[in-house]
Amino acid sequence: MVNSRNITDLHPHVAKLCVAFIAACKAKDIDVIITSTYRDNDSQNALYAQGRTFPGKKVTNAKAGESFHNYRIAFDFCPVVNGKADWNNLNTFTQCGELAESLGLEWAGRWEKFKEMAHCQFTCGLTLAQLKTGKTIV
Ligand SMILES: [Zn+2]
Repeated sequence: MVNSRNITDLHPHVAKLCVAFIAACKAKDIDVIITSTYRDNDSQNALYAQGRTFPGKKVTNAKAGESFHNYRIAFDFCPVVNGKADWNNLNTFTQCGELAESLGLEWAGRWEKFKEMAHCQFTCGLTLAQLKTGKTIV
């Protein structure tokens, strides 16, 4: 089961954007950590089971193959304040999200459904259905 937080496990183009994103945050005095990059299908299904057939809170609506993380083109981040991941600071998340957008990333903090402050992706407009057939970004 792979649930990576390594930037090198992302698609090379998205890895570059991720590095640029971290630098852009740093330039604004915001430290961020990357909490998730690539997940394999087993790992995605395990996450999906949480809050359904396994105890815990539901954390995703995506089964294997239905998350952009499965295609190496999404990552999750969290701002670090005083040495700790700060999941609750909406202002900082929004600042980071805007920096991500300025680099051409799609930030899920804007989504109306399943808003996810921590999630960024770069899909080139490809849908999951297209990715499932083996299509990939640039
Ligand atoms: Zn995510």
